[in-house]
Amino acid sequence: MSKPVVATASLAGCFGCHMSLLDIDDRILQLIDLVEFNKSPDDDIKTFTKQCDIGIIEGGCCNSENVHVLKEFRKNCKILISLGECAIMGGLPAMRNGIPVKDCLEEAYLKGPTVDENKKKIIPNDEELPMILDRVYANHEIVKIDYFLPGCPPRADLIWDALVALVTGKPLNPAYETLKFD
Ligand code: SF4
Repeated sequence: MSKPVVATASLAGCFGCHMSLLDIDDRILQLIDLVEFNKSPDDDIKTFTKQCDIGIIEGGCCNSENVHVLKEFRKNCKILISLGECAIMGGLPAMRNGIPVKDCLEEAYLKGPTVDENKKKIIPNDEELPMILDRVYANHEIVKIDYFLPGCPPRADLIWDALVALVTGKPLNPAYETLKFD
């Protein structure tokens, strides 16, 4: 019998949620028995090669490339999961929300205390660069999201329990410890 196919992506995130997925430790071997991985930074498969069952998204949308990838995942995955606070509500990158994009760019490239060398006062504007959005968007503001796994990052046990529940069809009864954030 063919195994469920899983794909993952990191949008405006720090890869901490992907690290937490790897924190399931030796259960990764059981996971490989349970599912097949497709497009993911974990296996370096860069394009979808088939329709997937579960798409796991870390990070929200801060630029046009993030929106493109997210829509591609929605198209290619039956179930889409927002993994972690950045995916669910924008997280740390959303701290720029409420500040005009122009001010953010000037702080980053012209006026900020860490700007050392930018004598020509250039703000990167190559047309190949993704367009910065007016604010950071949670993924469910862009596409339909089926499940949300909270945490920064979500605990490895929560990710494991959720994946096993989805793949086996058993109910998810997460332990209290996996859902508390202090
Ligand atoms: Fe990183 Fe936390 Fe955002 Fe995950 S939720 S991408 S760990 S900042």
